Amino acid sequence: MIAHGQKLKVTPEIRDEIKSALGHGSRVGELAKVYGFSRQLITLVRKGKFDDRVEPYFRCSGCGGKVTMPCRLCNIRGEM
Ligand SMILES: [Zn+2]
Repeated sequence: MIAHGQKLKVTPEIRDEIKSALGHGSRVGELAKVYGFSRQLITLVRKGKFDDRVEPYFRCSGCGGKVTMPCRLCNIRGEM
């Protein structure tokens, strides 16, 4: 079990745990508390946004763009 409020990334393992918990009748709000994720994020997991074939999008702290991490644009800029 994961400590409440811990900041975590959605690893494939956690994604699968959440999906199976949802499949067993757990509620989005419950899981959000257990994993310390937002309800929105749990919903995204349920919708398959974190499946291996689909990369989730994040707000880049470097350029502010909606990108897959690591941000390619910032990588390119960093190399110039
Ligand atoms: Zn960026």
